[in-house]
Amino acid sequence: MDSVNGLISKSLCQQPLFSFGVIADVQYADIPDGHSFLGVPRYYRHSILVLQRAIKKWNTCSNLQFSINFGDIVDGFCPKDDSLTAVRKVLEEFATFNGPVYHMIGNHCLYNLARCELTSLFKIPSIDGSAHYDFSPTPGYRIVVLDAYDISALGWPHDHPKTLAAKLILDEKNPNTDKNSPEGMMGLDQRFLMFNGAVGEKQLKWLDDILKESTEKEQKVIVCCHIPLNPDVTPLAALLWNYDEVMEVIYRYKCVKACLAGHAHEGGHSIDSHGIHHRVLEAALECPPGFDAFGHIDVYDDRIHLIGSNRLANTEMVFTS
Ligand SMILES: [Zn+2]
Repeated sequence: MDSVNGLISKSLCQQPLFSFGVIADVQYADIPDGHSFLGVPRYYRHSILVLQRAIKKWNTCSNLQFSINFGDIVDGFCPKDDSLTAVRKVLEEFATFNGPVYHMIGNHCLYNLARCELTSLFKIPSIDGSAHYDFSPTPGYRIVVLDAYDISALGWPHDHPKTLAAKLILDEKNPNTDKNSPEGMMGLDQRFLMFNGAVGEKQLKWLDDILKESTEKEQKVIVCCHIPLNPDVTPLAALLWNYDEVMEVIYRYKCVKACLAGHAHEGGHSIDSHGIHHRVLEAALECPPGFDAFGHIDVYDDRIHLIGSNRLANTEMVFTS
């Protein structure tokens, strides 16, 4: 039985306001199993089976209103000629879910296809290639999806101002020739790697406007972002470049209760100094055959409860204010 600080979970006797499915880092590719840079096994063909089992499970839960894919649906090792086929194959699986699926763009998506192709395939409402959006599943709540690769050396045309801005940041912060290498970099500086990115100024302003409006409407907000926003919940090499600027906007208001992310495959949970929960979801890609990493989130007025499959840990996130 789940408990928080010794209290028996109230989730067992209350109906959630709404519920939604979650999965991160499927990173499917029709290639043999491999491993990460650090030697963690990766099961590229099995990961789509994890997604299939996720959707089967979600479809048996009649109360799931929607599901969220936290990005990286196809792996960077997918042969380039197969990229579009692989992305479509994963999206066809998502389409078997009995409800809308909200996608976000991850670095591995951008290794395979250009941003403009992804926003179209993911049906992300996009202006000038943007991939941030929000929606309100119930009057008291808003889901905000951030675009972590707004400022990025990946996905934009080579001469795009955002590509150039990202390269300037990497040149300034990362002394290595290989901008995906953190060699010699210390502490928080390790986040300045090419496979990460930043939220640009325009998006920060948009976030501020959304949170102001949410505050006025007395809505609670759940922020979703492919890249984690808190250094205590992720290896520092997998942190958003300007996580501090994003959190500074979030801290102006009291409406954000939880920040959910993918990207850092081992997963994690922390509560920051403002009482906001940060939960990184364990990756579907790193499940050995027969294991799963997906879940659903029951949302209540005073907490959210992540109920995971075997590799994705249950987490009750009680709001502090
Ligand atoms: Zn990623």
